[in-house]
Amino acid sequence: VKSDSPNNFARYDSSMERTGQDRRKFEHDLRLALQRDEFSLVYQPILCAHHGAFKGFEALLRWNSPLHGPVPPDIFIGIAEAIGIMGPLGAWVLRTACTEAATWPNPLKIAVNVSPIQIQQGNLAATIADILAETGLAPGRLEIEVTESMLIRHPERALETLRQIKALGVDIAIDDFGTGYSSLATLRAFPFDKLKVDRSFVRDLDEGSESLAIINAILGLGRGLRMPVVVEGVETQTQADILRRCGCDEMQGYLLGRPSAIERFTTITNPNGTL
Ligand code: C2E
Ligand code: CA
Ligand code: CA
Ligand code: CA
Repeated sequence: VKSDSPNNFARYDSSMERTGQDRRKFEHDLRLALQRDEFSLVYQPILCAHHGAFKGFEALLRWNSPLHGPVPPDIFIGIAEAIGIMGPLGAWVLRTACTEAATWPNPLKIAVNVSPIQIQQGNLAATIADILAETGLAPGRLEIEVTESMLIRHPERALETLRQIKALGVDIAIDDFGTGYSSLATLRAFPFDKLKVDRSFVRDLDEGSESLAIINAILGLGRGLRMPVVVEGVETQTQADILRRCGCDEMQGYLLGRPSAIERFTTITNPNGTL
């Protein structure tokens, strides 16, 4: 969960003027949401920065509660972790996303976010292996996204789990890169295949900006480590142009496509086609 979650939660909480009883009701409804079929996934495209071709999609979880309305994942995922349902919920996300991706033309990939809880429970690699076998999705088409914050708490356990997942042939991306406090040490300690640069570095991206210097440094790091770099949060053509010129590999953001129900993308039949 991202570092800004507690703030979001506080804001959400106070705007609802939630009492202890409201909170218990919220948690109760969240606990039942899986069996009530209230979760869904939306998909956001990830594009090749050079040719504009679709590389794949990131699955993003949505909870549409009849009572609480659409609740942002930054709010409910932290609570789902706290009340102990993130294991089954995370497995549902993986299964649903892989089932969907198995219908896409090869080699389109699916990126799935994984919570620290799932990594620490230790059976994540076995869960992923089962889901790949069930859905028939080739392991090389699945990518797991993890944030570094989770890896630091139980590094040995995390390393073991990530190695097992990699051994399946699944790629691992470090998400929100640059926002933590030990990104470089983490990069050396864990077997990542891909770097996802946090969108905070894109917001004020401009010629001569500090963000541009940082993005360039991260792109250099990616080249040195032979890891493709994805930049997320690309909202303007100017940002996209700068990133392309800097040699960024892949881009994701509202400019290229908002997270949407997959039906919105059914025109994608040719993975080499351009937008
Ligand atoms: P994330 O993994 O960093 O996902 C990217 C977030 O940035 C998504 O927010 C996406 O909608 C948003 N985004 C994409 N492009 C742009 C852009 O151009 N501008 C701006 N301002 N935002 C953009 P979303 O869907 O609200 O998800 C928030 C976070 O919730 C995710 O951040 C991830 O940490 C977590 N999350 C979402 N789905 C899952 C899931 O299935 N499992 C787990 N464990 N966490 C999830
Ligand atoms: Ca992500
Ligand atoms: Ca991210
Ligand atoms: Ca690889």
